Amino acid sequence: MMRVQHQRPEGWKGGTRHEGDSLRRFAAVLPHADRTAAALSVDHPALAEARTIFPSTVHFADEVDRVLVSGANNPKLGARVTKGPWRGMPIYQLTLEERATCPASCALWATCYGNSMHLARRHRPGRELEQILGAELCGLADRHPGGFVVRLHTLGDFYSVRYASLWAVWLQWIPELRVFGYTAREDGTPIAEVIERLNGRFPDRCLIRFSRAVPSGKAHEAITIWHQPAGQWVDQGLVCPAQTERTACCGTCGLCWSPAMAATPIVFVGHGRRTKRRVAA
Ligand code: SF4
Ligand code: SF4
Repeated sequence: MMRVQHQRPEGWKGGTRHEGDSLRRFAAVLPHADRTAAALSVDHPALAEARTIFPSTVHFADEVDRVLVSGANNPKLGARVTKGPWRGMPIYQLTLEERATCPASCALWATCYGNSMHLARRHRPGRELEQILGAELCGLADRHPGGFVVRLHTLGDFYSVRYASLWAVWLQWIPELRVFGYTAREDGTPIAEVIERLNGRFPDRCLIRFSRAVPSGKAHEAITIWHQPAGQWVDQGLVCPAQTERTACCGTCGLCWSPAMAATPIVFVGHGRRTKRRVAA
């Protein structure tokens, strides 16, 4: 096993990375909880135009080798699940364009963590993506008869009723498929209703949490706070253990999709880009 030395940039903290491990302990970026630093200025054109600030990273699905990429490429995800009922399953991620696929009501519209992800490859939504996704999911089912997990969406959101409904079709016809992720779609909207039905129809295989500003008392919630928590628990719920260094990544955690945690909001400490601000002399 080759041991790789990493220089840690400012704000990064974590463990050693062992090349060749099926499970890697990655360095994880610590949340800074600085909303002002994370936010784009109110007149930034990406806000009004509902797009990423890195437009050259957006690709049509047929321009890339594959749209579903291994979680090994994402320190927050990990390559494989190591505990719980999905143990042993490889993790894949799907990345869409932030804001372009999201509701403008998202509380993180200006502070979206995508503002700091200049290397992420985003995929353009639409029929082409959907056709290629279906084919790739079938291919992954052949490769992983014991099951595989797809994280929706590393960036972006369910962009249409049709697209959200396709996940019901895929979950029905591909029993190997497991799905987890988050959505900013608001309660009562048609897309949110489709997602609620996904959770209800496939409770052991699909868990999409609803991002809300404050807990509503409903199941399947994710809350973002903009202060450093004093401990593992805050008033809103349980802080993501990867952000408090209690676990390495989603693959080693699994709380977000654990049925036992459905009623407990998962709390994320705000993160994203760190703008340099002038300090008064
Ligand atoms: S829904 Fe997610 S990806 Fe989209 S703008 Fe909000 S935080 Fe960013
Ligand atoms: S709580 Fe666990 S599964 Fe959820 S985002 Fe954090 S590390 Fe991943």
